[in-house]
Amino acid sequence: MLKFLKQVGDYAKEAVQAGRYIGQGLAVTFDHMRRRPVTVQYPYEKLIPGERFRGRIHYEFDKCIACEVCVRVCPINLPVVDWEMDKATKKKKLKHYSIDFGVCIFCGNCVEYCPTNCLSMTEEYELATYDRHELNYDSVALGRLPYKVTNDPMVTPLRELVYLPKGVMDPHGVPADAPRAGSRPEDLVESGNG
Ligand code: SF4
Ligand code: SF4
Repeated sequence: MLKFLKQVGDYAKEAVQAGRYIGQGLAVTFDHMRRRPVTVQYPYEKLIPGERFRGRIHYEFDKCIACEVCVRVCPINLPVVDWEMDKATKKKKLKHYSIDFGVCIFCGNCVEYCPTNCLSMTEEYELATYDRHELNYDSVALGRLPYKVTNDPMVTPLRELVYLPKGVMDPHGVPADAPRAGSRPEDLVESGNG
């Protein structure tokens, strides 16, 4: 009988202990509910892509000299440079240029090596289509002005972590003119990171 009572006592003690642990865990969980969620509410909020973000490629037809360097440095020889020799001027005449973004890996090699800077990377990453052939951009589509997160009246642009002021971790509510941490070399020296 005594043994049985001891077992019941031990059980009750362990149950109370487990209950306390669960209570402590729930207290931490409820404490997290008091904090502001650090969630970007796409599509009404969008992060501003970084300065070196490799989005859709922009192309300027009138700058291109049809040298085909972009084709040679591309890992899959993707850009299509369609030109013919103009016998009168003895120069290459560019007829057509296209890049298929269904195949492109956005490595930026073509942009890096283009001798006339007619290629550049934009911050545009919303390229989804219902048809894969619509991703094959011709020179006109490539030359279209890119969409900018900061110019969209429907969107609240949010800064990425490295562009926030010093010590700030949450992009919500940061004023647009607040300086980012270490944007100039003297800032880096001041903060001791230089
Ligand atoms: S970004 Fe890279 S994969 Fe895409 S076209 Fe340029 S070199 Fe080719
Ligand atoms: S590297 Fe530049 S200039 Fe040469 S063909 Fe490509 S886009 Fe045109």
